[in-house]
Parts: sequence; C-alpha cells; structure tokens
Amino acid sequence: MAFNDYEAVIGLEIHVQLQTNSKLFCSSSAHFGGGDNEHTCPNCTGQPGALPVVNEKAVEFGIKTGLALNCSIRKDSVFARKQYFYPDLPRGYQISQFDKPLCENGYLEFTLEGAPKRVTIERAHMEEDAGKSTHHGDYSLINLNRAGVPLMEIVSAPEMRSAQEAAEYARTMRKVVRYIGVCDGNLEEGSLRCDCNVSIRKRGDSKLGTKVEIKNINSFRFIEKAIEFEIQRQIDCKETGEPIVQETRLYDPDKNRTFSMRTKEEAHDYRYFPDPDQLVLEIEQAQIDAVKAAMPELPASRAKRFVEQGLSEFDAQTLTQELEIADYFERAAGKNPKAAANWIISELMRELNESKREISDSPIQAEQLAQLIALIDAGTISGKIAKTVFAEMWSSGKNPDVIVKEKGLTQITDTGAIEKIVDDVIAANPAQAAEYRSGKEKVFGFFVGQAMKASKGQASPDVMNEILRKKLKG
Ligand SMILES: [Zn+2]
Repeated sequence: MAFNDYEAVIGLEIHVQLQTNSKLFCSSSAHFGGGDNEHTCPNCTGQPGALPVVNEKAVEFGIKTGLALNCSIRKDSVFARKQYFYPDLPRGYQISQFDKPLCENGYLEFTLEGAPKRVTIERAHMEEDAGKSTHHGDYSLINLNRAGVPLMEIVSAPEMRSAQEAAEYARTMRKVVRYIGVCDGNLEEGSLRCDCNVSIRKRGDSKLGTKVEIKNINSFRFIEKAIEFEIQRQIDCKETGEPIVQETRLYDPDKNRTFSMRTKEEAHDYRYFPDPDQLVLEIEQAQIDAVKAAMPELPASRAKRFVEQGLSEFDAQTLTQELEIADYFERAAGKNPKAAANWIISELMRELNESKREISDSPIQAEQLAQLIALIDAGTISGKIAKTVFAEMWSSGKNPDVIVKEKGLTQITDTGAIEKIVDDVIAANPAQAAEYRSGKEKVFGFFVGQAMKASKGQASPDVMNEILRKKLKG
C-alpha cells in the first residue's frame, strides 16, 4: 500500500505561559531568568503548611484566552491535583484542572494554502509549570524558578490531517495569544510549547489508530518535520507488520527523527482529585463580560478588514503575523493602504531583516512612511526617487519632505525641460533611433533608461514616456 492509502490524525496540546508578574499560587516572580532558585518561596517549593492562593490576574488571562478561542467559560471550574513523582515537582503533584476546566468547546480558524480551516478546541485549562532539572555528569541540579508559573494548556480535537496544518494551527495560536497580550510567544524561552498527538489510519476508516505523543517541540518548523517523520514511521510500521506502541516520543532536530522516551501513562495513573487547598474557581458573568469588552481586535478579523481596504489576502496575512507590524501598517496606511502594504512588505521588511531589527526599532516611523507615500501620490517625487529617499530616511531618520528639499529631488514634470533631455538623448544615439523607426520596439526601453539617467531619475516617467514616443516617431 502507498502513502496515499493512509491519512494522519493529529491533535495538538499547546502550553502557553501566561505573562503575569507572579506565579499561579504565590507571589514569587513568574519572569523568565533570575539566579538559580531566586524566584521561589516556601509555597512554590512545596514546603509543609504553605497554602497556595490563586492569582487573579492569571484567571483573567485564562478567561481572555478562552474567549479569544471562542470557548465557553465555566462558571465553576475546579483545580485538581495531578500526582506524579518527579524531582522538579516538589509537592509531588501539579495543580491543574481535570474534568472541570476553565474553558471548553471553542475553535481556532486560520487559512492553509488559501483554504479556510477551523479546528475545534476541546478545552483550555489552567495549571502550574514544573521546575527544571539539569544533568551534569554524575549529579543533577534542580531550579524551581519555573515551578508554579501559570500556564494554559490548550487541547485541540484530533482534527488535523497534515503536518503543515498542525504547524499553521500552532502559528495562529501564537499569534492570537500575543495579540491579546496574555503570552509573549517566546519559543526559545519556552513560553509556548507544543505536544503533538499523531496517529494514522486507512483512508475512509472512522476508528482512530494508536496514538503517539511527541513532546515539547519549541519551533514551528520542527512541529512540521517531527509530524512528517512520525507519519512516515507509522506507515512503515503498518506496512512491515510491526505494532505501533502508544508512547511518548521526542524529536531530535539534528537527526530529523523521533525516538521513544517512555510508554504513555493513562489518565488514571495520575490519580486526579480536586485539590482540597483550593476553592471552586467561581467566575461571575460580569467578570467575563468585562474581559470581553476589553478584548483587542483579533488577527483574523484584522486581516479581513485589511482585505476590505483593498489589500490582497497574502498581504493582509503577512501584515497581521505580528501585532506590531499590523499596528505599524494601520498608522502608515493613510489614503493609500495598498502602497503602504507594498512599502512595508518589500522595502521595510528587507531592511529590518538585514539589520536584524524589530519593527518597533525601525528608524522610519509609520507616519514618515505615510508622508513618503503622500509625496509620490501628489507627484512631487517619482517612485524611483522615493526609493532613494527611503534609503536616506532609513539611515538618517529624517522626514521625507526635508530630504527631498535638501537634495533637490523634486520630480520634473515641466514638459519643456523633459523635451530638452529627450532631444539630447535621441541626438546622441542616432543608430538606435533609426532602429526604433524601422520597427524595433525593444529599443524604446533603451531610450527610457538613457533619458531617465540624464534626468537623474527625476523626470516624471509618464510625461517622459509620452514625449519619447512622440519624438522618436517624428
Ligand atoms: Zn513562590
């Protein structure tokens, strides 16, 4: 049987770190970094007698995440103990949510190669992070700075069918949590981590195959590669009659393969039960309404609005990838959003990439870009000169009108002046002029180039082309 006889079934669990100042159940700092075990207290290190008290800001961020993912918010969610032994989990259990999560039954929409997709979000629950063990030869060290940091675990239904779809889902998730300001989306620092559940089945089967979980992937490219590898590995197993084992695997980017880490625990292995230290997390409708009212515009709706302003779907998607870029675009759009989109996507992004800067550090402010476009639209400078002005704006940070004035770059629209230039160019190139007159249309481009050069790029291209055609024929 061939690759195409199988279909992949993929579900994602994404852990999003909520960017609160303090941890989920204590006042220790939840920020990344810090000296070893500096961000800890008796509470998050699991000392006897410490009483964890839930962080209100984290709950607000949890509600915000749920609303952005179109979930219903449970009015009485319950924190539960998830018991397992691990050195970086000092209490011996993680406080999480089990059968009564904060958010349920939502969805996330995105486009994949132009086609609209909607993936069901089964649940999104709050939980605390564990600490971190590092292994050094014959000893190990434990850093509990992360222990107790608030997370949302967002669980999709197993509805995705390709590695590309899963990666796009994850990218969109990052975009959404960044837009609503609950997570910085920093993959390197582990603010967003992804577990992928992958199984395969014969096309047309409704029964799910044995699922394998690939844990802790922290790059969208690796999500795609790991899933691709895993689908092929499972198909190979089927084809050779080797059983697929339910297990947790890890992805090794250097070797581009997954390998077995441990056989998967069943849910009951964790012996979940409601944490007696915690009250039921009661949410009032007024609280949900307040979060809803303060919700910023989400990327999908923003992209839709940009398309309505005349942008292509591709441009709208590119500009809404990052909140800061979308904001910049809106400030630069002015009366000519299409031109602003072009300048940002081509010129500005290239400069930013080359100098490894974020758009927030751009030496050209959005308002200055809007002024530059207005100068072109008013016919003050040509599009070609605008590129020179743009380069100067990038290096000096000056306003475009100042640069145009200082360097005398105003476009020449005066017919007399352009006629003079055209006459000189034709006189200097009699052979080419004769060729053109004998029917070689291609030579026209040569004259355009010469005349533009003679005008130092300042002639209005429209006026110049018209005069050139007239004079060459004559
Ligand atoms: Zn603490």
